[in-house]
Amino acid sequence: MGDLRSGFVTVVGRPNVGKSTLVNAILGTKVTITSPRPNTTRRTVRGVLHRPGVQAVVVDTPGLHRPKSALGARLNDHVAEALDDIDVCVPVLDATAAVGPGDRLVLARAVDSPAQIVVVVNKLDHAPRPDVLERLAQAQAAVQEAGAPPERVIEYFPLSARTGEGVPALVDAVLARLEPGPAYFPDDMVSDVPEAFWVAELVREQLLAHVREELPHAIACRVTEWEWPVVRIDIVVERESQKGMVIGRGGALLKEVGSAVRAQLPPGAFVELRVRVEKHWQQRPDVIERLGY
Ligand code: GDP
Ligand code: MG
Repeated sequence: MGDLRSGFVTVVGRPNVGKSTLVNAILGTKVTITSPRPNTTRRTVRGVLHRPGVQAVVVDTPGLHRPKSALGARLNDHVAEALDDIDVCVPVLDATAAVGPGDRLVLARAVDSPAQIVVVVNKLDHAPRPDVLERLAQAQAAVQEAGAPPERVIEYFPLSARTGEGVPALVDAVLARLEPGPAYFPDDMVSDVPEAFWVAELVREQLLAHVREELPHAIACRVTEWEWPVVRIDIVVERESQKGMVIGRGGALLKEVGSAVRAQLPPGAFVELRVRVEKHWQQRPDVIERLGY
């Protein structure tokens, strides 16, 4: 074990506050996909930050929300599990929106956990200074309301996960709170995301960036064959009528998605995309399981 300090650092918050963007910014590399659509993250992703003498396992979670489907309920379960037995909890708030009931729930969960708490107010680049100060005050009030004892030291970091402003200070504060512990992952490991799941996620990220407003929730992606350099991926939608929207005119959208994904893979990769209908999969626990969420 030596002199290593280590621990689990879990990032939580409402959908779309910038949790995944923050996890990538903390790690300095992309381990989790992001998008302007809520509920992009569908499973817990662990990234590993290695520094001399310190190892932090940084955990990205799906947004905590009021579930409307079996998938939504499953995502909230992932969050609850991720809050179990952690060292540092990082609740993330969005500086561009008032602290609401969803945020208060997130802060209350953090206060209830035995973890140390470091609160982030994100999107500093997009909010006027007075708004940021107001969020910080609201967050502090919510933490007190949730019953945090006055002696519990809670720090607050306004920052921008997108520009990186304020991220190094957050990282220093989080690492400073870790205590002596084992190495949880080997030195060369940056995340626990299996390669096949990762490529399927890259496809979904591109689809989220390109398809029309109503579609994102209905889309899932799964690698069906992996014989490097050939990777076959099923894009699953809920209804026959959604197939065309994903394929695009003359296959244009699929082609664009395929090449954007290929550009992020090692040279020579051959990405084959197929669109399939899996009726109402978001309501079917067996399909959700099969998709790895
Ligand atoms: P998550 O659902 O909490 O994981 O949020 P994401 O990381 O997927 O981000 C949601 C949206 O907010 C995306 O469009 C991000 O680009 C955007 N976003 C994240 N961080 C920032 C930030 O610091 N500033 C601004 N302006 N946008 C951000
Ligand atoms: Mg996310």
